[in-house]
Amino acid sequence: MAKQVAFQNANGTETKSKPTKKTKVDYKARALGLRAQRENLPIYSARSAIISKVREHSTVVIVGETGSGKTTQIPQYLLESGFTTYGQTCIAVTQPRRVAATSIAKRVSEEVGTPLGARVGYTIRFEDCSSEKTQLKFCTDGLLLREILSDPLLRRYTVVVLDEAHERTLRTDILLGMLKDIQRERKRVAELNAEAERTQHNEYSDSRNSRATGTHIKFTDEAEDDQPPIGEAVVDSVYGDVTGIGELKIIVMSATLDAERFSEYFDQAPILYVAGRQFPVTTYFTTQPQSDYLDAAHLTVLQIHTETPSTSGDILVFLSGQEDIENVERLLRESAAQFPKGVPHLLPCPIFAALPQAQQSLVFEPAPEFTRKVILATNIAETSLTIPGIRHVVDSGVHKVRGFDPRIGESLLVEPISKSSARQRTGRAGREAAGFCYRLYTEADFAQLDEDSVPEIKRCQLSMVVLQLKAAGVNDILKFDFMDRPSKRALKHALLELYALEALDDKGELTQLGRWMSEFPLEPTYSKVIYASQKLGCTREVIDIVSLLSVDSLFYIPADKREESNAAQMTFRSKDGDHLTYLNLLRAYNKVNGDREWCHEHYVNRRNMRHVLDVREQLNRLCTRLSLDTSKSCGAELDAVLKCFLSGFFHNCALLQPDGSYKSLSGSQTVHIHPGSSMFSKKVPAIFYDQLVFTNKLHARAVSAADPLWIAQASPKLYGRISQL
Ligand code: ADP
Ligand code: MG
Repeated sequence: MAKQVAFQNANGTETKSKPTKKTKVDYKARALGLRAQRENLPIYSARSAIISKVREHSTVVIVGETGSGKTTQIPQYLLESGFTTYGQTCIAVTQPRRVAATSIAKRVSEEVGTPLGARVGYTIRFEDCSSEKTQLKFCTDGLLLREILSDPLLRRYTVVVLDEAHERTLRTDILLGMLKDIQRERKRVAELNAEAERTQHNEYSDSRNSRATGTHIKFTDEAEDDQPPIGEAVVDSVYGDVTGIGELKIIVMSATLDAERFSEYFDQAPILYVAGRQFPVTTYFTTQPQSDYLDAAHLTVLQIHTETPSTSGDILVFLSGQEDIENVERLLRESAAQFPKGVPHLLPCPIFAALPQAQQSLVFEPAPEFTRKVILATNIAETSLTIPGIRHVVDSGVHKVRGFDPRIGESLLVEPISKSSARQRTGRAGREAAGFCYRLYTEADFAQLDEDSVPEIKRCQLSMVVLQLKAAGVNDILKFDFMDRPSKRALKHALLELYALEALDDKGELTQLGRWMSEFPLEPTYSKVIYASQKLGCTREVIDIVSLLSVDSLFYIPADKREESNAAQMTFRSKDGDHLTYLNLLRAYNKVNGDREWCHEHYVNRRNMRHVLDVREQLNRLCTRLSLDTSKSCGAELDAVLKCFLSGFFHNCALLQPDGSYKSLSGSQTVHIHPGSSMFSKKVPAIFYDQLVFTNKLHARAVSAADPLWIAQASPKLYGRISQL
């Protein structure tokens, strides 16, 4: 190996490029079976303390190191302690990510010893693996938000566990506010029930006693042996029949130490700290800044692998997203193919949110003999998933976040992580024994990082949550009890966008269309497009394209085969841009039934295409349920599809300028077409795009040509003027 990445010790004195210590991973715990493993977790000793705190208080905040057993154990403790009734009530555990919800449900159902979907299940967007009998349900926070729309009191749930609350995703934050409100209402309703029971009980005693004694003196004690008659329904003026509804318990679980904020928010809820296991981790920084962190990650993994025995533990690499992960995976496979005889195998295991479930489970499987696993992960492995066997962590220092600026809308950014994220990543190496962490940045760069990440609600587009809040009956969004208040500007922008989409009326109230749109687990722009497709007769094509847009990338573009990949993509190219190009791709893919060889030859990302088909099926089902005719097709008249997209994406348009650049309509920013787009370097009067990605400049992704007139027609309220241009 010619190239090396040079590291230095965290204290800056000792320069080292490799770890040399030999240690064996302790697989004994695994062999002891799940029961023994459960009882071995740090949280086990806190079991009764947790249960009694939850019994005593409405809300409890639990903080514990990653891997201590919060996610898998606490829900089971609640289940074992009778917090739900079989066939009647349920405990919900929310996760910010789909992958976490599904894989944890799988693990917990194994530990409980019942098939997945029975006593323990999960529900995520587009996928329900639970039944009426489910008592422990793992779900995404977005999904629980959706349930509030149809069940404003969350009647089925006795306890809601908000897991990974420290991540402060947009949906967790909204859920915090909604749950606080529901808890208050449930308390009120529970008191009504208690009151009704008391009076019924007393009436019964009264009548009995009066019969017996002819007086109205209450001898309630005497009635105890008899069952009071079946009571009447308890009716509430807001919620109707609320018979039997009790209090809602909330448990907030978090990995880091921002517990006081949660406690304050929930009226000084008690905080329980669970100690975890943490072995020392030797941390290294690079001596020089790395210009290409993917290359650096690749080389570092090879260095660890060739210079330590494969029995010294698996490697976990943190990267920003799917594209990074697939690139490093490819680099590693190529290098591993050239290992001389005698070098153990290297098994790359990717894990990211959009990965199909069958492939996710691979990261949890022990590596085969003479093989070392390299887990390539997004920040999903930071706290959400606990992967056993890790002893080496490689930290790229970046993650992908949503950013929002009212002038440019929402964009995806690859940004440096915070110090607390960096520490969390490092900690992953020392859960089972002492470990090593390689940070692909210098110590000076680390010092520059922010202490904590900014909650998502402060930096992303709010249209979807505002729509959901409105649909859940929260009329005055500005007065909503946010834990961290988003800027007024962002809220106003969301309200304006929803108004332009016709989801809100002049008074800011939800329209019929808005209510319909809120049924979709999609950004309102997409649900609007689906709605418009009925009138324009192109629902089939629109659902296809919306599904295609749900994944990061449809093609592989290996760095050394850029030309070949581009040439292959040309086969699907439509002169009108990416939306129709994607449609061509899907049609061709279906024609060959997703053939593996064909995908390989055309540089088509088969993994993502399968996800696309999945989403398409779910969308079709949802549309059918909402009485949409999903078979409406425009055939070859594809202009209808483009017009249809504009009815939602009129905010994402840019006009050609005399100097050949494009300027966004809404914010007059210069927008560059992504080099991977079929519209790259093309000049048309106007374009619209699915997304903006900010790297060194603003890049539009998934771009198509638009007729400026169509834009004006799509939103006369906003752009009526353009028709005169
Ligand atoms: P926490 O939520 O506190 O971070 P978890 O409950 O997720 O902890 O995990 C506790 C332990 O359970 C982990 O340390 C790991 O050993 C084990 N574990 C969790 N999920 C799996 C899985 N899918 N496969 C194997 N072991 C698992
Ligand atoms: Mg957890």
